[in-house]
Amino acid sequence: PELPAAQVRSTFLDFFRQKHGHLLVPSSPVRPRGDPSLLFVNAGMNQFKPIFLGTVDPRSPMASYRRVVNSQKCVRAGGKHNDLDDVGRDTYHHTFFEMLGTWSFGDYFKEEACRMAWSLLTEHYGIPADRLYVSYFGGDAASRLQSDEETRHIWLDMGIPPSRLLPFGLKENFWEMGDSGPCGPCTEIHYDHVGGRDAARLVNADSPDVVEIWNLVFMQYNREADLSLRRLPQFSVDTGMGLERLVSVLQGKRSTYDTDLFTPLLHAVHQVCVMAAPYGGRTGSEDQDRVDLAYRVVADHIRTLSVCIADGVHPGMSGGDVYPELHKEADRIVDVINENEAQFLWSLQQGSRLIQRTPDLMINPGSALLLSASVAWSLHRDLGFPLDLVDLMLEDRGVQVDRQELDRIIQSGVELSVMLDVLSLAELQRLGVPHTDDSLKYAYRLEKDRYEFPACR
Ligand code: ATP
Ligand code: MG
Ligand code: MG
Ligand code: MG
Repeated sequence: PELPAAQVRSTFLDFFRQKHGHLLVPSSPVRPRGDPSLLFVNAGMNQFKPIFLGTVDPRSPMASYRRVVNSQKCVRAGGKHNDLDDVGRDTYHHTFFEMLGTWSFGDYFKEEACRMAWSLLTEHYGIPADRLYVSYFGGDAASRLQSDEETRHIWLDMGIPPSRLLPFGLKENFWEMGDSGPCGPCTEIHYDHVGGRDAARLVNADSPDVVEIWNLVFMQYNREADLSLRRLPQFSVDTGMGLERLVSVLQGKRSTYDTDLFTPLLHAVHQVCVMAAPYGGRTGSEDQDRVDLAYRVVADHIRTLSVCIADGVHPGMSGGDVYPELHKEADRIVDVINENEAQFLWSLQQGSRLIQRTPDLMINPGSALLLSASVAWSLHRDLGFPLDLVDLMLEDRGVQVDRQELDRIIQSGVELSVMLDVLSLAELQRLGVPHTDDSLKYAYRLEKDRYEFPACR
């Protein structure tokens, strides 16, 4: 491509480093150190949390950070920013992605941050301004947070037309790291992939046509454990832009999977998977859509696994490659994946058999089909299925897990005696299946000393 991803990344880092005096700080590993509130690093700011909170050891190099830039490996699986439900289904949410980030720790604030972001996008990357929309925090009465008029005026002064400057509430424009931690109002830049029309109503509307690219957060509070907001000792700026999304914009692609960050990977997947069609090979058919979705999931997953496994090791950005640990650790990554894959495939096979047989028993006319919570729980506990995988596998059949019952089980910690590939008498009763020998052919003997059933499979 005209502008390879590597160049997009380095242009960003150079702009802030050389032109605006930011210090380049390496990405931290995706596994957070010493922060029990997080499963994975979900944003560039995570490693700087102590700076926001004012708890940095004065002897640490962090104590002197004022302007910082980096490219951070992020994983959004689980927690407040979980994106697993979107990955593969859309073309711009990844499990692992790179966040291009900038910070001002008590240095510049809103106006300079907005001006630098706009200048980089429109002048250096050459994105037409009429493809961009800007959102800002419009306030929230219930939490007594006011509209961020200061930011609105900054953008207006910079010539952004009012019709492209849109207020949103807490969910979109008040960024929070997790259930607790630094937070504040934000202003975001969105890109219209189509152009030539008023697309304001598509901003923050889950449309693939208008996609959020850059978030500028004005860190002013800490969300305490009791959910109250405490003002931070100093105000800071924390911005983050998804590299994959930016690259898709600059390479003129509607999908991040059509950029050079993914095409080699999708090609390699095609080579080893003996799938008939390459990614995006045939168009229009529903089958191909499903195959393409699978391609996207696999490609996304390979990236995520590689980065996560490699991060048993400390990254260093000193030489050539951006993430050298990926090369150093290649053999180990392959070993770990193979081992886990074999184990998981076995589990998957057992679990799929159970799930396949279960809906046959759910004769429950007139109401939604529910999978017994104990079966779901057994898949999870005995086979290590993530519960959302169970949901996914059932989705195609129009079946849902009995959530209420499952929550009850999880909360009560009851040990259930459902075994693999088995449905108990209690299951059949709950599902309203008549107790004929015929229906019991699905049942296995569970509570041996209480019931005797023919195991007739
Ligand atoms: P979205 O609304 O699209 O889910 P977000 O508001 O959750 O994004 P932020 O927390 O504001 O995202 O993160 C900053 C930037 O990181 C986003 O503007 C986007 O460019 C990028 N980003 C966020 N989540 C993902 C993801 N799952 N995959 C790729 N890029 C992402
Ligand atoms: Mg999101
Ligand atoms: Mg958003
Ligand atoms: Mg956002």
